[in-house]
Amino acid sequence: MTHSHFTAQQTRVNPGAIWKARKRIAPFLTRTPLIQSPVLSEKAGGPVYLKAEHLQPVGSFKLRGAANKILSLDGEHRKRGVATFSTGNHGLAVAWFARQLGIPAVICLSARVPREKTDRIKALGADLIVCGESQDEAEERCLQLEKEEGLAVIPPFDDPEIIAGQGTIGLELLEELPDLGRVVIPLSGGGLFAGIALAIKSNQPEARLVGVTMEGSAVMYHSLRKGRPITMEEQNTLADSLLGGIGLDNRYTFPLVRKLADETLLVSERGISQSLSLLFRNHKMIVEGAAATGAAAILDGRIQAEGRPIVLILSGCNADAEEVLQAINRS
Ligand SMILES: *Cc1c(COP(=O)(O)O)cnc(C)c1O
Repeated sequence: MTHSHFTAQQTRVNPGAIWKARKRIAPFLTRTPLIQSPVLSEKAGGPVYLKAEHLQPVGSFKLRGAANKILSLDGEHRKRGVATFSTGNHGLAVAWFARQLGIPAVICLSARVPREKTDRIKALGADLIVCGESQDEAEERCLQLEKEEGLAVIPPFDDPEIIAGQGTIGLELLEELPDLGRVVIPLSGGGLFAGIALAIKSNQPEARLVGVTMEGSAVMYHSLRKGRPITMEEQNTLADSLLGGIGLDNRYTFPLVRKLADETLLVSERGISQSLSLLFRNHKMIVEGAAATGAAAILDGRIQAEGRPIVLILSGCNADAEEVLQAINRS
């Protein structure tokens, strides 16, 4: 990757784009609460706050990026419709938001996606296209729809409008906690991290941004250490929304995370279970494993307060309910 290429990419993802995203999506999204956590504050030795993004419609922050991307399309594209290949929180967000606007949405998925997930997407009014046995085949089909039918592909993270949409969380945090010390962000493809980090670093450069991922299949974490995007086998985890690669041809999120992350760390499955339990018992919140990784880093003693407030992003709540309840009961 040449230097000039890198700079050209960076100019498309900038703080101005995040302000624009905020204006664009404001009529459609509610501002999520920021809640102080006495129990986590006690453990960290200073104030800890939870940004409750799991309270967004369809249960995750992904709606911010999906809404911003879809609203950025011209009339022609909106009429033809949108397509994506995610069956997780991104797919749900795209399906739901497209329906709000009356835009057709197609979700490409592999035959291996469980029935429960496909039913939920169908219920949101999207068309499902089952193609092949793997996620790669689903992605290929999706890109084919773009070429042949002119559908607009809504990528899950590596896109300037998606990053800017997720970055609106950062603007809210700056207003709510002007003396913000650290933000702890669940890290997978890096759209959430890149957006929040860009918003915060450009307003409060001394704030520190920490990415947190589960120990198994931490693709971004290991890519950062290798200095280039890598691929890894997927392992079972409670934080299943953090699974998936970052794309070997990653254009935006990898360089941004590399530039803006002060620290990236890994948490154990046991730590994630304990955090799910803590959030349920103390806050009566049921979130998904990915959202509990920040709290796990505090429980593991990896994050200590240094005078200024710490914010954890509770990124979503779309786990399999049985699995979360089992994890809570185990701890
Ligand atoms: C997608 C997702 C993440 C990670 O976001 P990236 O932009 O892929 O890094 C974290 N938590 C939840 C619940 C998600 O759905």
